[in-house]
Amino acid sequence: MTIFEKSTRGRKGYELPEYDVDKLEIKLPEHLVRKSEPMLPEVSEVDVVRHYTDLASKNYSVDRGFYPLGSCTMKYNPKINEDMASLFANLHPMQPRETITGAVKLMGHLKELLCEITGTDDMTLQPAAGAHGELTGLLIARAYFEDKGELEKRKKVLVPDSAHGTNPASAAMAGFEVVELKSGEDGCVNLEELKTHLDESVAVIMLTNPNTLGLFEKDILTIAKMAHEVGALLYYDGANLNAIMGRTRPGDMGFDIVHLNLHKTFSTPHGMGGPGSGPIGVKARLAPYLPIPVMKKTERGYDLDYNLPKSIGMVRSFYGNFLVMVKAYTYILTMGNKGLKHVSDMAVLNANYLRAKLSKLYNASHDRMCMHEFVIDNEEFVKKTGVKTLDIAKRLLDYGLHAPTVYFPLIVHEAIMIEPTETESKMTLDTFVDAMEKIYEEATTKPELVKGAPYSTPVRRLDDVNATKYPIFRYKK
Ligand SMILES: *Cc1c(COP(=O)(O)O)cnc(C)c1O
Repeated sequence: MTIFEKSTRGRKGYELPEYDVDKLEIKLPEHLVRKSEPMLPEVSEVDVVRHYTDLASKNYSVDRGFYPLGSCTMKYNPKINEDMASLFANLHPMQPRETITGAVKLMGHLKELLCEITGTDDMTLQPAAGAHGELTGLLIARAYFEDKGELEKRKKVLVPDSAHGTNPASAAMAGFEVVELKSGEDGCVNLEELKTHLDESVAVIMLTNPNTLGLFEKDILTIAKMAHEVGALLYYDGANLNAIMGRTRPGDMGFDIVHLNLHKTFSTPHGMGGPGSGPIGVKARLAPYLPIPVMKKTERGYDLDYNLPKSIGMVRSFYGNFLVMVKAYTYILTMGNKGLKHVSDMAVLNANYLRAKLSKLYNASHDRMCMHEFVIDNEEFVKKTGVKTLDIAKRLLDYGLHAPTVYFPLIVHEAIMIEPTETESKMTLDTFVDAMEKIYEEATTKPELVKGAPYSTPVRRLDDVNATKYPIFRYKK
């Protein structure tokens, strides 16, 4: 029931004292005056509270349960980070510079910490999301090659076929030609394939490491050497840094441009497109092209530097999503060196625990140690049972669990991509394994049951295709 259907004529959620001042007569121009009353629900306070509490309880979130969404790092985020962010909630970006000294210092220090974590020399915190960071990084690459007089010949960006969809999209938006690299049998970049594409027409190679199959690119140092030999830049999609944080650094692997998703790895709850932050770290030779302002270290702390003649300009208003930065800053400081390392150790351990347990029944796409996530290849399973990956995902909802990412990466058929994250206990992981085992059993003995799932959710199976093609945004009874 919508709040409008709960409306009763004349019901109110407030009581105001009797009017005892002179009425102000304001004459509005005729065309601005309403012809009819606004359509607002008339409800009491308790109606409103119950309505929204009821809606909220229908929502599944990481605060309610396990959320193994591969390539999305849906982890539990400590509430103290929210607390710290709320301290800054009243800041306004137009405030005089001298009243935001603390905020500038925070951004400056955060930048330094993130540079240290990624092994880069400078960084912008301005981009508002991962994809936005990718675009920013590629615009920096473009400006760099333009400056060197090489833009004419360097038109291509190489992207593996396992990449997140935002990679080729960002490269195309930045005006490059996207060339897909076919992954090797082992799920990694195939050096022979790379060689056939790599020459001076290549501007950038975009890689995700560990890649979206959860596998570490074992030849990364060779790839970096090959890229640099032809004068190309190496771009790192670090949306999910969970696996390597504190263990190794993209900068040390030879990457020139690195993007991070603070809203995945560094403690901002996300999903449904909430505020994010996609900082871009660069090696020193690319620093002159960063968006302005950059945080510059001074004797007294940090300052905002707008004087960057070769900058690509601003990519977002002011400094980016500042409160997301506060959460990341709190997270890094409270975790410390050891804590961040422990995060990646646990993320990898948890993923391998699930991989080992689940591959007794399901087929892991690659039979080797994974990093923070792994992929199940259900092609055989579908042939055998007629139950599809989508059915398994829907059935998990009946077991009270959020489904993992499905049908991604595109190179694995009927893929299920699982990322448990470091914040889950063995008990929770075992609950998930249990559910997956039960579903396996159901798929083998009563496939129709799984195909009809979910049974316990507020709405059953939605028509995903029509929902995207013909979305209805207005409620009509
Ligand atoms: C999430 C993700 C992105 C895009 O980040 P957004 O903030 O959603 O734009 C890019 N690459 C990978 C590997 C991701 O997981």
